Amino acid sequence: MKSRITVINFDKIEAPTEGEEIKATDCGISVPDNPIISVIEGDGIGRDIMKAARRVIDAAVRKVYDGKRKIVWFEVYAGQKACEKYGEWLPEDTLKAIGHFIVSLKGPLTTPVGGGYRSLNVALRQALDLYACVRPVKYIRGVPSPMRYPEKMDVIIFRENTEDVYAGIEWGQGTEEVKKVIAFLNKNFDLYIPGDSGIGVKPISIKNTKRLVRMAIKYAIENKRRSVTLVHKGNIMKFTEGAFRDWGYQVAKEEFADYIVTEDELHNKYNNNMPEGKILINDRIADSMFQQILLRSDEYDVIATPNLNGDYLSDACAACVGGIGMAPSANIGDHVAIFEATHGTAPKYADKDMANPTSLILSAVMMLEYLGWQKAAEKVKTALGETIMQKQVTYDLERLMEGATKLKTSEFASAIIENIRF
Ligand code: NAP
Repeated sequence: MKSRITVINFDKIEAPTEGEEIKATDCGISVPDNPIISVIEGDGIGRDIMKAARRVIDAAVRKVYDGKRKIVWFEVYAGQKACEKYGEWLPEDTLKAIGHFIVSLKGPLTTPVGGGYRSLNVALRQALDLYACVRPVKYIRGVPSPMRYPEKMDVIIFRENTEDVYAGIEWGQGTEEVKKVIAFLNKNFDLYIPGDSGIGVKPISIKNTKRLVRMAIKYAIENKRRSVTLVHKGNIMKFTEGAFRDWGYQVAKEEFADYIVTEDELHNKYNNNMPEGKILINDRIADSMFQQILLRSDEYDVIATPNLNGDYLSDACAACVGGIGMAPSANIGDHVAIFEATHGTAPKYADKDMANPTSLILSAVMMLEYLGWQKAAEKVKTALGETIMQKQVTYDLERLMEGATKLKTSEFASAIIENIRF
């Protein structure tokens, strides 16, 4: 295959000589049959699970498209490998490649202690404006779960990724900065904030709220989902969380009036009978949502929520279907998307060929869906489900399942590949 890509000047890496670029279009992305996809292997168990995930994805694409389609992987560097090659954790080459080639797959990264970054993941999301963290949570039959009816959980969470208390606007207790901020607030707003406080700021904006909720509603429409729930703590934080709810409803009514029905309309206009083909838009206060999602999981479908709520809620939902080792995720902007495992680098299992690659494999499945390669995505999901039903699993699941066979990471990948059938 000949390269037909734009020449980009990298410092220490070279783009592949085969494959083509994915292009951004007005209505999404245009994907060639041999797309170049950048890949960050990740630290710790990243080295084991990335190998496994790539083998599974390549095998599915090869089997389903019979050689007519192929992913051309382009390794780019972040974390410890980047440190060795570049002397820095997140080199410019990597940001350039991920931005240019649009779609990436990423393993977990160590958070540098005392380095220039609070988290490489947050730095990547901010640098590339990946404003939505998208986490589907669905039960795979046979996986041990603490719930009685885990199969009722099938939600997809759109968590705002760029603002809220995660914006990183904080001043530590006792610093000159915090003294100035406290003095300013106490003087100008007639407050009494104790002088020994630390201060954090929680910005939530119209633009960032609307683009997140817009993405969630579009997803619901395109994937024929039943409802979109705005999860907020607006009863207490009226001008941030409450505003998130109000702006969320606004974008729904202004841009998707033909598709949505509010809960009020459902009761008052439709006598509680959901009209065919419409999507219910409702909202829930975050604390009540945490119990609702456990007690009545099947009443929820697509969820849109600010950053902090989303962080907690996605792990809580993942726990119901077997933990973060089983849950995939993507960080998506207007076009650029990074698909990544939800767990960390689990250093004690690094290079032992033990870790469970499911989270990364399912993230790669989301990536195939994003490319529009649904058939390959479906095949991997089915094969993964079959492998778990055959009780062929890695150590973490084997210790919770009776009569299971413990497989290495690489053996688990081989078992999935074996189960990819027509
Ligand atoms: P962690 O790496 O997620 O590991 C915590 C525990 O979770 C492991 O000891 C293991 O539990 C289990 N686990 C995680 N992934 C697993 C897998 N694939 N298969 C089987 N078991 C798995 O969390 P951490 O120890 O708090 O963090 C380690 C490093 O990862 C830190 O530097 C942290 O900053 C980083 N991190 C990165 C990301 C990311 O890149 N997205 C996310 C979170 C953390 P058992 O020992 O009980 O088997």
